[in-house]
Amino acid sequence: MNKGYMGKILMADLGTGLIEDIVIPETVYKNYLAGMGLGAYQLYNQIPAGAAPLGPENILGFVAGLLTGSGSYFSGRWMAVGKSPLTGGWGESNCGGNFAPAIKRCGYDGIFFKGVSETPVYLTIQDGKAKLCDASHVWGRDTVETELLLMKEIGGKKKARVVCIGPAGEKCSLIAGISNDRGRMAARSGLGAVMGAKKLKAVVLSGSEKISVHDKVEIRRLSRKCKKYVKWQPPFVSGPLTAWVGALMRFLPTQLAMDGMLYKIMLKKWGTVSMNQMSVEIGDAPIKNWKGTNRDFGPDKSAAVNPDAIIAHQKRKYHCYSCPLGCGGICTVKGKHPETHKPEYETVLSLGGLCMNADADSIFYLNEMLNRAGMDTISVGGTVAFAMECYEAGLITTADTDGLELTWGNTDAIVALIRKMIKREGIGDLLADGVKRAAEKLGEDAAAFAVHAGGQELPMHDGRNDPGFALHYSVEPAPGRHNTGSQLYYEMYRLWKKNKNLPKPWLLYFKGRKYKTNRKKAVMAVACGQYMNVLNGAGVCMFGAFIGADRIPVSEWLNAATGWDKTLEQYMEIGERIQAVKQLFNCKHGIRPETFMPNQRTSGHPPLTQGANKGRRAILEPVIRDYYELLGWDVHTGKPTSETVRRLNVN
Ligand code: SF4
Repeated sequence: MNKGYMGKILMADLGTGLIEDIVIPETVYKNYLAGMGLGAYQLYNQIPAGAAPLGPENILGFVAGLLTGSGSYFSGRWMAVGKSPLTGGWGESNCGGNFAPAIKRCGYDGIFFKGVSETPVYLTIQDGKAKLCDASHVWGRDTVETELLLMKEIGGKKKARVVCIGPAGEKCSLIAGISNDRGRMAARSGLGAVMGAKKLKAVVLSGSEKISVHDKVEIRRLSRKCKKYVKWQPPFVSGPLTAWVGALMRFLPTQLAMDGMLYKIMLKKWGTVSMNQMSVEIGDAPIKNWKGTNRDFGPDKSAAVNPDAIIAHQKRKYHCYSCPLGCGGICTVKGKHPETHKPEYETVLSLGGLCMNADADSIFYLNEMLNRAGMDTISVGGTVAFAMECYEAGLITTADTDGLELTWGNTDAIVALIRKMIKREGIGDLLADGVKRAAEKLGEDAAAFAVHAGGQELPMHDGRNDPGFALHYSVEPAPGRHNTGSQLYYEMYRLWKKNKNLPKPWLLYFKGRKYKTNRKKAVMAVACGQYMNVLNGAGVCMFGAFIGADRIPVSEWLNAATGWDKTLEQYMEIGERIQAVKQLFNCKHGIRPETFMPNQRTSGHPPLTQGANKGRRAILEPVIRDYYELLGWDVHTGKPTSETVRRLNVN
């Protein structure tokens, strides 16, 4: 009997209609766990070099974590994997909701698709039978309508779950994502476009297979123990005060290492929007397409999105599967949305401060509109901000925009432009594939305003405030992402508590140290990457992991689920192997280290002349070299050396 994992995947060939089960050897789980690790192993071996991301040779996978369904907390993440049409390299997108356990209840650790269908289809698995069905009746519908219709068609079974694309994915917008739970999005890497190119509208799962584990009692004991950390919730400051706490932090010359319990308290009270104003004030949130500062978007403007103002709309909390924290929320906006997901911090800031938009109602409206269209809110905000700067510089005029005046903060124009992007109408067609493609078409001058790493629009964390983010944006196999590491994340993960080889950060430090890159920062970044790959193999939510490795027993849960007996250090070696196989995927597909270097503006070249990040420059080249050396990757080609491949037993 398998322990934690199901032991097989499903492969559907959309070109031939053939559907088959593929048994996965136990050694693969031991080497790569499940989830992202299993996905990376499969895709590295099966996608041929040079495969077109939107062509039949690309493979799109939906994978669930090894811990999903085991009874351990925070373990409901599922991931979409494939070759990214945005970057041309490794593509991954991590999502919450309730789809992950549905994959395993159908008896699989992952569901993969190759080929391209001639007509729109969806895959359904019910009572152990998988089949491809005609999707022409839902093609053209938005993600919420599609999910409701397909759920109704299978009789509204309680544990049935749907993932689907909206019109953006159907139109192969390279910034399209994949939705579940009517608005939880696997948004990044452009994998919605891969699904659209395959003419795969949805996956509908309804199963009741048992998910076996080695020691259920131990898993429950561990979960009970970690629940006490989640439960502890002292009263906290009011929403508007967070801006002033941020301003105070900006002025102090020193900083305390962040304990993730503090962030947990904020997450539990408000969700990710807890950081809306504080991030602007400390210089974490990029403003005005990364050329502005907190002075441009001060508390007078950001007040509309202060955490209390956002959750005033919340009618109930939203928990992903197996999550005791519940950072999500279901909101009502009077007269507009009876029910809509609470916008996340990333959404609020990319559609807010990045475009200088101070209208909270428009952010709720756009969040719902983009969730329904199936489009990545971070990439959309980044692309709109790019268009605004092009407009300011005269590279785009009202003749190109059908009369829209793309001035900073013009809410009506932002809404109208995004509608055009979803429909690929007029200038919207140019922008629907993100900033890199748009800049290439607009000519050389536009490149300076295009903020991306290898084609992926950057998230709302400024590397000038925390160079750890800038480093990860540049070196991760899926670049330009905020969900792997940074100095802040390293402090919160508390890995040194369980892995004594890792450096302990200073409890109190002069901020000057934080803005400097050095080899120690590379050591921290490597550890964050290894750990994050373990979390993604296990299906554990990053926000849970922020509570600290000594409080959230990931390695103990994995041991109890599988019967293995590994230390965190040994699991982190598995994480390193997953990282290596993703990097090998990129090398196989022609990606070189320089391909992913983000727009220089984002690391302070040239430095800002005012605001929270005034004068700061992250010098990345030496720390990138250190990062590659520590992982055993060639510093020139980025390729894991043959010695590294042997050491990690990558196959
Ligand atoms: S902390 Fe938030 S994102 Fe993470 S599993 Fe819980 S509800 Fe989902």
